[in-house]
Amino acid sequence: MKTSEIMANLERKYGHEKEYLQAVREVLESIEEVYNQHPEFEKAKIVERLVEPDRIFTFRVTWIDDKGQVQTNLGYRVQFNSAIGPYKGGLRFHKAVTPSMLKFLGFEQTFKNALTTLPMGGAKGGSDFDPVGKSDAEIMRFCQAFMLELWNCIGPEQDVPAGDVGVGGREIGFLYGMYTKLAREYNVGVLTGKGANWGGSILRPEATGFGALYFVQHVLHTAGKDIKDKTVAISGFGNVAWGAAKKAKQLGAKVIAISGPDGVCTIPNGITDEMIDYMLELRASNNNVVAPMATKFSGVEFTPGKKAWSVKCDIALPCAFQNELNGDDAKELIANGTWCCCEVSNMGCTPEAIHEFQSKGILFAPGKAVNAGGVATSGLEMTQNAMHISWSGEEVDAKLHQIMSSIHEACVKYGKQADGHIDYVKGANIAGFMKVANAMLEQGII
Ligand code: GLU
Repeated sequence: MKTSEIMANLERKYGHEKEYLQAVREVLESIEEVYNQHPEFEKAKIVERLVEPDRIFTFRVTWIDDKGQVQTNLGYRVQFNSAIGPYKGGLRFHKAVTPSMLKFLGFEQTFKNALTTLPMGGAKGGSDFDPVGKSDAEIMRFCQAFMLELWNCIGPEQDVPAGDVGVGGREIGFLYGMYTKLAREYNVGVLTGKGANWGGSILRPEATGFGALYFVQHVLHTAGKDIKDKTVAISGFGNVAWGAAKKAKQLGAKVIAISGPDGVCTIPNGITDEMIDYMLELRASNNNVVAPMATKFSGVEFTPGKKAWSVKCDIALPCAFQNELNGDDAKELIANGTWCCCEVSNMGCTPEAIHEFQSKGILFAPGKAVNAGGVATSGLEMTQNAMHISWSGEEVDAKLHQIMSSIHEACVKYGKQADGHIDYVKGANIAGFMKVANAMLEQGII
């Protein structure tokens, strides 16, 4: 397998699908050497098969807004790979959603889910519906119309969607309500991220952020460092950023910046519990701005148009969107003394930023390892639903700890370089790939 040849072929076919091509290139570059040591992979054309999703559903979603106007959006579900388990992955509601974005996310999800140690294949879905400025009633009507088309494609042993950007507990509730009405059965195993009193995992809202910080702890520990008293800059104020801020504070770090599309809030004395709670209100308001944090709390300063990466910090945690940290941001961070960056968002850094970090010896770990605690906890939710049991927060947290530690171990196993340094990008990609590739091999040419 030659990355350049496969990429040239994909670029011919999907030249305009930039994010998807970016995600594929990173994985192929990581696995090329290992792949070529396994002639059986080449013979079964594993890579050529793995880069194409199994199938993509595209559907029209029509709903009525609060003014009585008819609105039409597009809905998608990309079922990427089911070699190691039923399709699993979130739904993203965001105005910029395209099939390319969901293909990249479904591709990443396949490797991430393989890393979790749990049996889940990869998928992603969503819509170009823009939740910004929408009322709760509009969100409900949109979710219902979306499920009207999706319900036939999903099931506990088939495909299990969850949340992602723009889809949290509220949206999962509306989606499930419509599902159960259409399917005429109470089948909670069909979605994860549900409410804790109707089949959800009590720790799912926190899980991505908590898992990410457990992973950061492992990265730091392996490098002989400690998170206590370190300054942390976080982008975003959704579920993921919220969980990350909460756990970072619990572990003794100081979160000194939170950003949104409108600018950055700097908090020189470190984020407080009240501010962390307020992040949830910001998310629920559907306004997609972080500025009100500075109006509500003293000790917070808002700078419009700036990213979290302009703030001097030890550790940078992108928690919002893909490619939100570019080469120039990486240079600015490094110039300001940042020595660790862990992606919590999927593909949060551009290839230029990753290159910048890695070439300057900055500790760097990719989203598919760092944020895998979210989907892992979804996997635990699926197990609870299948067994008709519910675990306590402590039980789930202990399992999450264990899973993040296994993911870190796998990254070290496959990413340790001759000089002892750990390439987490390579480690995560190779570990995820080996599991999926071997399963595909054993299941024949399908
Ligand atoms: N959307 C999340 C992710 O990127 C969670 C997916 C899930 O829980 O299925 O992994």
